[in-house]
Amino acid sequence: MERVNIMWFRRDIRLKDNRALEAALAGGLRVLPLFIFDTVILDQLPSREDIRVSFIHKALTNLNSDIYAISGIKDSLLCLHGRPADAFEYLLNGIESDKSLNSKKQSLKIEGVYCGDDYEPYALERDKEVEALLHKRGIGLHKIKDHVILSPREVLKADGNPYTIYTPYSKLWRATLACDRENLLKSSSMPALAGKIFPAAENFNSIPRLADIGFSECESPDARWTPDFSIIDNYGKIRDYPAVENGTTGIGVHLRFGTVSIREVVTIALEHNDTWLGELIWREFFQQIIFNFPHSATGSFKKQYDHIEWRNDETEIERWMAGETGYPLVDAGMRELNTTGHMHNRVRMVAASFLTKHLLVDWRIGEAYFASKLLDYDLASNVGNWQWAAGSGCDAAPYFRVFNPAEQARKFDPAGRYITRWLPELNTKADLQSLFTPGTGTSKYPAPMVDHKFARERALATYAKALKG
Ligand SMILES: Cc1cc2nc3c(=O)[nH]c(=O)nc-3n(C[C@H](O)[C@H](O)[C@H](O)COP(=O)(O)OP(=O)(O)OC[C@H]3O[C@@H](n4cnc5c(N)ncnc54)[C@H](O)[C@@H]3O)c2cc1C
Repeated sequence: MERVNIMWFRRDIRLKDNRALEAALAGGLRVLPLFIFDTVILDQLPSREDIRVSFIHKALTNLNSDIYAISGIKDSLLCLHGRPADAFEYLLNGIESDKSLNSKKQSLKIEGVYCGDDYEPYALERDKEVEALLHKRGIGLHKIKDHVILSPREVLKADGNPYTIYTPYSKLWRATLACDRENLLKSSSMPALAGKIFPAAENFNSIPRLADIGFSECESPDARWTPDFSIIDNYGKIRDYPAVENGTTGIGVHLRFGTVSIREVVTIALEHNDTWLGELIWREFFQQIIFNFPHSATGSFKKQYDHIEWRNDETEIERWMAGETGYPLVDAGMRELNTTGHMHNRVRMVAASFLTKHLLVDWRIGEAYFASKLLDYDLASNVGNWQWAAGSGCDAAPYFRVFNPAEQARKFDPAGRYITRWLPELNTKADLQSLFTPGTGTSKYPAPMVDHKFARERALATYAKALKG
C-alpha cells in the first residue's frame, strides 16, 4: 500500500517558497497536488465572465506546467469542482473504490492533507467541515502559515488581546520581525519534485476549461509577478497620484492568490522602501482584524455605527456604480473599476467616502460592489478599508472628516490627466477648467448629484444622531 500526502492549493498557487508544500514534501511521501474550484464562492459571483476566475485559471496552468518541468509528470495537478467537503468525499471514495487510481495498481492511503492557513470567516468554516470529514477517516488536515509573515495570533497586546489600532500593531509587527528575521523571512527556491509527485490526475481530471466550470475567458494580467524597482523605489513619491501610469506595483492580485511569496515581497520592501513595507503591514493588520473580530465582516466594527440611518437610495447607488455622480474624480475611479477591475487606492478612498458620507449609503453595499469587481479583492482588506472610509472601522478616520472630492481631485490629479483618461466626454478647454469646480463644464457630463456642503452637513448630522443614541 502506498501512503501519500495531499497538497491542497488555495491562496498559494505557486511552487516556489510555498511553506505548506514544503511541509507536505517533508514527510518523504509522494504528494498529490490538488485544487478545488469552490462552488460556494463561484456561485456567488455576479457574472460568468470573471477576471479573478480567469486569473486563477492562468495561475493553475502555470503551476501545472511548473510541476511538469521539475517532476517530468504531465498534468499532475488534480482539479475538482464543487463544495470542498463534497470534493474531498468524492476523491476519497474514488481512491477507496478504484485501486487503479494508482498507476501501479496497488492500494493507496492518504496520510495527511496540507494547505496554507486562511483566516477569513468562510475559510475557517470550510476548513472545519473538511477537517471533520478527514478526521473520520483518520486523515489529518495540516494548516500551515504561508500568506502572512505574522499570523493573527502572533502580534498581540501585552494582555493577550488583539490590536485594533494600526500604529502600535505595526510597531510590534516590525519588532517581532526584527527579532526573528532569518526564520520568518527564510524563503526556499523551487522544490525538487523528481519522483515526489503522485499523478492522480491520470484518473481524475486535471485543469478543466473555463467553459467546463461555467465561465468564459476574459482578459486578466500575467499570473507571474516580477518586481519593478522603478516603482518600488519611488513608491512614497508617486503612489498618491492616479495619473502616474504604474504608480503602484499591481501586486495585490498576486498576494491574494499567492502567485508570489509574501516572504520574498517583504524582503524586497525591507531593502527598498519603508513606505511600501507599511502598506504590506496594513494588509496583515486587516487579516488579524477579520480573524479576531469576525463580526466586522458583516457589521460595523464599532457597534454603535450600526445605528446610522442609511438613505440607500437605489437611483443614487446606480449613478455611483456607473460613474455618473457629476464628481469627476469619483466617476473616473468607478469607470476605471468597471473597465479594468482595478481602481487606484487614493480614488478608492474618495469613491468610498463619497458613497458612505455624501450619499449616506451603507458601506456594505459599496463593499459588495467592489467585491464583485476588484481583481485584487480580498475580504479582509476590502472590509477594513470600507469601514475606515465609513468611519465605523477599528482604526477609522473620525466620521467628521469628510473628503471633498473636488479638493482631492485638485490635489492629486492637478492636470486632470487621470480624470480625462476615464471621462473622455470632458474634452473642451472649459471642461478642463471645470474639473475641480463640478457642474461648470460640458452639458454632456452630469451636474453634481449632490452639493458638497449640503451633503457634508447632512452626513455629520446623521452620524451624530446615530452615535448619540
Ligand atoms: C475602499 C477600499 C477598498 C479596498 N479594497 C481592497 C481589496 O479588496 N484588496 C486589497 O488588496 N486592497 C484593497 N484596498 C487597499 C488598496 O487600495 C489596494 O491594496 C491597492 O490599491 C492595490 O494596489 P497595488 O496592488 O498596486 O498595491 P501597492 O500600492 O503597490 O501596495 C502593495 C500591497 O500592500 C497592500 N496594501 C496597500 N494599501 C493597503 C491598504 N490600504 N489596506 C490593506 N492593504 C494594503 C496590498 O496588499 C497591496 O497590494 C482597498 C482600499 C480602499 C480605500
